[in-house]
Amino acid sequence: MLQPNMHYADLKESYLFYNIAQKTSAYTEENPDKHLYRMGIGDVSLPLCKAVIHALYTAVDDQAKQDSFHGYMPECGDPNLRETIAAYYGKRGVKLDSEEVFVSSGASDELGDILDLFAASNTTLVIEPAYPAYVDANVMTGRKILHLPSGKDNGFLPLPEEGMEADLLYICSPNNPTGAVFSKAQLKEWVDFANKRGAVILFDAAYEAFIEDPDLPHSIFEIEGARTCAIEICSLSKTAGFTGTRMGYTVIPKDLERAGMNLNAMWVRNRTTRTNGVSYILQKGGAAIFTDEGQEQIHANIQIYKNNAKVLMEALDECGIWYCGGKNAPYIWMKCPEGFGSWEFFDHLLHEIQVIGTPGEGFGACGEGYFRFSTFGDPEDTKVAAERIKKLLLK
Ligand code: PLP
Repeated sequence: MLQPNMHYADLKESYLFYNIAQKTSAYTEENPDKHLYRMGIGDVSLPLCKAVIHALYTAVDDQAKQDSFHGYMPECGDPNLRETIAAYYGKRGVKLDSEEVFVSSGASDELGDILDLFAASNTTLVIEPAYPAYVDANVMTGRKILHLPSGKDNGFLPLPEEGMEADLLYICSPNNPTGAVFSKAQLKEWVDFANKRGAVILFDAAYEAFIEDPDLPHSIFEIEGARTCAIEICSLSKTAGFTGTRMGYTVIPKDLERAGMNLNAMWVRNRTTRTNGVSYILQKGGAAIFTDEGQEQIHANIQIYKNNAKVLMEALDECGIWYCGGKNAPYIWMKCPEGFGSWEFFDHLLHEIQVIGTPGEGFGACGEGYFRFSTFGDPEDTKVAAERIKKLLLK
């Protein structure tokens, strides 16, 4: 008799965004005339930049003509785009062969799909608080999960400890939800740990474009030794407003081998079986991000989000509230005021000043007592929200 994948029964229902939506719509029903200041969700608010839009239009025209029409694209990505992305890493001193870059439909797809390369008997370590997909993708495959909590004492940047029995390690830097960023020295400890143990790091670099401190690493491959223990998963969602357009890339070095198997070659085999590539039109749009014009335009948008972060950070500073993130990441992770749990603080902000954020508890148990603000919202709303937060918390 057919057996479904019973591991799905082990998934915990994620009530986080559902609860937020429920509470918000109940409030709006009771207070239809009140404007809400939305700083909860991690979705972008600015449209695609001009360079991308122009490239997308041109690609659509290409598909309309016999001599420029494209059918199936190479499964691992357009060779030119793979070269372009490798060159983007090159600017930061990271040498990649273009065949180590795989064009993807986005990071979420890859974070789960990549698990195909590893036996279900492996143990996965998730540093928490964490982007919820890491845990859920592993629960679906029945893997044992180790939860490594982090906190204010280590700046939400925990380091490996002797005896940790982790085979796969998720590291997200800059981090969602905490906005904390690992230094090169800290990442080196994780790289050394992984190489010594024979583990593999799945490095989520979805927010690398928000790093402004020149000493902080954008890529795990800036760390010596990473080529033999890491896979990097990147997204154009927040970098270039591609949340609804969809594209990303994954880097698997040719030096990454385990038990005589080459993980780059395995992923080529996987992609050529499981996908027929990303569309020609999207890859053309994505390529425009890496031109000088595209880089200038996406960074102008990122700067708008960074200004939102500045406005919020100044408000929290004035209130004497502890937080991390905001400077090199689009999230601000604050300690709830004395006596408030995450959800209580959510209710307090909604009812008193109509500001919506995300309760930290939704990202793992150690997030209780913390609260996340996204800086992807409307700049005018963010300014009003910051004023309201100040007025409320300084009362
Ligand atoms: N990784 C992290 C840490 C994220 O926060 C997100 C989206 O919010 C993703 C991956 C998903 O990115 P994508 O839109 O490319 O699927």
